[in-house]
Amino acid sequence: MPSVLDPDLRRALAERVRYCREMGIYDFYRRESRFSDPTVGAEVGELASTSQEQREEMAARKSAQVAKTADKNILQVLTSHPEQSVADPVAALKLIREDLGDCTRCKLHKQGRKQIVFGVGNPRAELMFVGEGPGADEDTQGEPFVGRAGQLLNNMIKAMGIRREDVYIANIVKCRPPGNRTPERDECETCSPFLMRQIAAVKPKVIVALGAVAAKNLLAINAPMSELRGRFYDFIPSGPNGDSSWPGTKLAVTYHPAFLLRDPRQKGEAWKDLQMVMNYLGLRPPKKDE
Ligand code: SF4
Repeated sequence: MPSVLDPDLRRALAERVRYCREMGIYDFYRRESRFSDPTVGAEVGELASTSQEQREEMAARKSAQVAKTADKNILQVLTSHPEQSVADPVAALKLIREDLGDCTRCKLHKQGRKQIVFGVGNPRAELMFVGEGPGADEDTQGEPFVGRAGQLLNNMIKAMGIRREDVYIANIVKCRPPGNRTPERDECETCSPFLMRQIAAVKPKVIVALGAVAAKNLLAINAPMSELRGRFYDFIPSGPNGDSSWPGTKLAVTYHPAFLLRDPRQKGEAWKDLQMVMNYLGLRPPKKDE
């Protein structure tokens, strides 16, 4: 029978969770009870015929069972996100954006950002691109990949036979690092749970990580691009995604468009990565007159 958490306790926990999230704490862990045996219960009638010692032990086991049930509920409260209660990805993304708010969770909020660059595109996209972080143009316009690198990304998407509006685009961090420096580890770790939630809301079939920073953060692998590229990874966003029927997505790695602008000789290699994705998604390049 499903158990119900006391409303006051639930409210108090929700407050605590909100406080933790504002502090940048997202993951909660449950210490296993030493009473892990589920065969507790059905002994009420036995109580009368047992010794004091046995009764105390049985009472302890029963209270452990109650604690375990409450524990499970608490865990559900602690690890759930508001968007998990909605199936519509548009509504889910809106809830995630609201939860992000005027974010001050990492130090990038006070290092000159003009605005948060949340993400853009089709909330039901089959293909998602993830970059590193906003640059100056993105910071000004509030949209990822709108500068020169964005133009090249648009061309790459077009070469795949689709439009920018068909895909979803986001970054590991949502605020511009000063001087376009690489986002630092603590900034990525604080911000990326929101990206994970965006991925879980959109549920793309394929994610393309643009550049080493995006790839390493998504895959938690520290390897050079030469090793990261050229294959698919099975990817499930960390944290609760609220849909146990979703098997996750494929993830491929290619060069960041900004790198391709600096070294156009690598465009052929990037095209090989995109062709691998196109084959998987059944996309074909546009004909000359399209
Ligand atoms: S980078 Fe992310 S975590 Fe840091 S302040 Fe911006 S939105 Fe918040």
